This record gives sequence, structure tokens and C-alpha cells, in this order.
Amino acid sequence: MFYDHDADLSLIQGRHVAVLGYGSQGHAHALSLRDSGVDVRVGLQPGSKSREKAESDGLRVLTPAEACEEADLVMVLIPDHLQRQVYAEAIAPSLVEGDALFFAHGLNIRYGLIQPPADVDVVMVAPKGPGHLVRRQFNEGRGVPALVAVEQDASGNALALGLSYAKGIGATRAGVLKTTFKEETETDLFGEQAVLCGGVSELIKAGFDTLVEAGYQPEAAYFECLHEMKLIVDLMYEGGISKMYWSVSDTAEFGGYTRGPRLINDQTRAEMKKILGEIQDGTFTRELVDEFDAGQPNFAKRREAEQAEQIEQVGAKLRPLMSWLSDSED
Ligand code: NDP
Ligand code: MG
Ligand code: MG
Repeated sequence: MFYDHDADLSLIQGRHVAVLGYGSQGHAHALSLRDSGVDVRVGLQPGSKSREKAESDGLRVLTPAEACEEADLVMVLIPDHLQRQVYAEAIAPSLVEGDALFFAHGLNIRYGLIQPPADVDVVMVAPKGPGHLVRRQFNEGRGVPALVAVEQDASGNALALGLSYAKGIGATRAGVLKTTFKEETETDLFGEQAVLCGGVSELIKAGFDTLVEAGYQPEAAYFECLHEMKLIVDLMYEGGISKMYWSVSDTAEFGGYTRGPRLINDQTRAEMKKILGEIQDGTFTRELVDEFDAGQPNFAKRREAEQAEQIEQVGAKLRPLMSWLSDSED
């Protein structure tokens, strides 16, 4: 782990930084770097929806190509599936020896969708939290932990530069872990597919459907299978799986131990290995790139279908009853 005293802020303060994108991560990085005394400009397309926000936050906004032209360090904080094109059109033309190319996620580098020249540093600084938390923690004098990785060390000083950048956004106040583009990308994709996004939502929906099909009220099924998930996850987050089992009733603990492994069984674990294999051999990324290159036909349909599911309708009706929920909406 690297902390504040391992990082030299003057390295990033000596660079001209372009932050491309002003979304979740982009706004947090650009503002916190600026507040750390770094020379920052934001790169956005003409007509970008984010432009007004960046300008009213007091930042200089240029087109991506202009921003890269001025900069000797480019941080790419636009959606992953757009990075390949922006790299070709706006970043690559002005990359010169000694420049640095930064990312917050390794996908495009890990799968060779972007292939930078050998004479630039290629570094990742990936906060382990959404941008709004990154910015809020920075403002409160704290930080969100981050990963740092070096894919190309042309300058011989790429790790120090990455740590300096991490310090500029407050991450070294919390702690920065060294990893590789390969490890970050593959574990991130696996986590979101098998556990966090794909796994959890399908588990919730299967539980909800089972209760509703058996004739129980959809509202009761929603509370039991979706709403209570947060209470359980909060306990795990605070003190691990043991704290969760310590807090629930002995009945719930006994039921969990005896029934859980029947759901997440050898077949599920074999499928997880298959999913990981498709990440490692590039099958998943090929599928992703093909889908987005084709204009997202299946993705858009799937999103619409998911939003129309009964559990979503029931939830929309129930959530307004829980007054405290609107307090936490960002
Ligand atoms: P967002 O979807 O929030 O970023 C969208 C921003 O990119 C908007 O400002 C958008 O402008 C701009 N943008 C879109 N297309 C272009 C373009 N062609 N040229 C310039 N700007 C463009 O992205 P995230 O912050 O979620 O993700 C950025 C990176 O950070 C990704 O690599 C992601 O994997 C990584 N990451 C994200 C985390 C998160 O919590 N969100 C956590 C850790 C890493 P407009 O207003 O015009 O649409
Ligand atoms: Mg991810
Ligand atoms: Mg219960």
C-alpha cells in the first residue's frame, strides 16, 4: 500500500493535464487536481451536455483534440466503449515522446483496443468508488482508496507519476494498491458480471419470481428479496460475512448455511469459471465491442425489458413509502 508520504505531489504539479470527459470520474479528477495546484483543462466534444457544468465549476473546456494538444498528460475518463475512437481521433495525433496516457480502468489497454506508442508512459489510477464519493471525500480532507498500475514505463518514473496523480485526487490519504492492467481489468469484469451486477440482480429476481409464482404478494416478495438486501450487505461491508451471520437470527444463520450452498453449487461455480475464461481469452470483450459497434441493438432491447419487469414496477410503487430513501439520492 502507498500513502501520502510515498507520493510526491510536485510531479503532477509540473505537468499539463487534460482530463477527457466530465462525468462521474471526470468531474472528480479535474476539480480535485485543480484544487491540488495542478494545471488542468477538460476535453469535451462541441455541444457536450457536460460543458456547462465544467465551465460553471470554473474549469477551462476545450475540444478533446485541443486539450490533448496542450497537455503532456492525458487522463481518459469517457465511457470505455468510446475510448478507442477518441484515442484515434483526438489523443494519438498529439502524443509525443515523454507524454503520459492515464486511465481509470484497464479494458482498452488490456485487450489491445488502444495501442499507444512505446515512448509514452501508460498508467492507471482507478479509484475504488464512484466519482461523486471521490470528490466528496477529497473535499472533506479524506480520500477513496485507489489502484495504481503501470503498463508502459517509458520515462522510468511512471509509478511515481501515477502515485503523484493519486495524491492529487486524495487517494493516497486512504491508501493506493499496486496492481496490473491485466489484474484490474479481469477482476473488475468478473466481479461485475458474476457477483455484483449480474449475479446479485439475477439472484434477487429469481427469489422474487419464486415467491410471486407461489402466490405470495409481490410487495412482500419485494421487501424480502430486494429491499432487505441492503441491510445484509451493509453488515458484510462493516464486518464481513461473520458479522452478518452474527447479527441475523440463529434461524436465518442455520437456513443460510444449509440452503445457500444448494443454490451456489458446483454447477454455479463451474459457470463462474467459464465466465472468467471468456474474460481471460477476450471472448467477452469481442462480444462487447461488436455490440457497441453495431449500435447496441441487443443491449438497448435488454435494458428496456429489464426496466419493464414486475419487480421494478412494484419497487417504484413501494419506495415512495420509505421517506428516508429520497435523502440519499444523488
Ligand atoms: P461517464 O459515463 O460518467 O462519463 C461521461 C463523460 O464523458 C461525459 O462528460 C461525456 O460528455 C463525456 N464524453 C462522452 N463521449 C465523449 C467524447 N467522445 N469525447 C469527450 N468526452 C466524451 O464515465 P465514468 O466516469 O463512469 O467512467 C470513466 C472511466 O472511469 C471509465 O474508464 C470507467 O471504467 C472508469 N471508472 C468509473 C468508475 C465509476 O464509478 N463511474 C469507477 C472507476 C473507474 P457528455 O456530457 O457530452 O455526454
Ligand atoms: Mg467495471
Ligand atoms: Mg427475514
